[in-house]
Amino acid sequence: MSTKEIRRYEDGANGPYHIDEIRETIYSCKHCQRIYTGFHGLHAARWCCCNDCPCESMSCDNRTTGRSMHCDPCRARRIDDQWMAFKKVSPQFPCVRFGDDTYFFTEEELIEWMDDQEDGEHTRVRCVVAERMIVPIFEVQEFLCDMGYEDHEFDDSNDDAINALIKQVAPETWTGSGKFFEYARERPGA
Ligand SMILES: [Zn+2]
Ligand SMILES: [Zn+2]
Repeated sequence: MSTKEIRRYEDGANGPYHIDEIRETIYSCKHCQRIYTGFHGLHAARWCCCNDCPCESMSCDNRTTGRSMHCDPCRARRIDDQWMAFKKVSPQFPCVRFGDDTYFFTEEELIEWMDDQEDGEHTRVRCVVAERMIVPIFEVQEFLCDMGYEDHEFDDSNDDAINALIKQVAPETWTGSGKFFEYARERPGA
């Protein structure tokens, strides 16, 4: 690959073009020629292939690579603000690292992970309490609704048996909940 060409957001769009028949203002990406219309058309066309764009935060002059709308410091600050706003609970396991998909099923696992971090001095970890994913309930009426005539009633007498079977084979999967806590400990060795 050649040296990366700088594609500035501000220079990223062609247009506006006006086509009478469709009564829409059209912009296109200068690099891949994709067409964008609508209220955000200009922004979308500039954003499309750019790799040098302004940070979207007000009064921030940093540039981003275009993969994120905010520069790294702004993004970190936004995540901090978001984190601060969450109500916190006491530590519970299993849990998953906030903004990540590292799961800890026991406190020991979490401590071990903290020990393994490069700086070796991770003393706080933001965590989300994990919950077992609910196994979906099978209802034949729902499952076959597109195949029936209008208001057709399917025989649902096997639904319970099918659900019991599904429960048996469903894997144990976990997901983050709306409960947050910060796990803190003393410095290792202290
Ligand atoms: Zn493009
Ligand atoms: Zn910024």
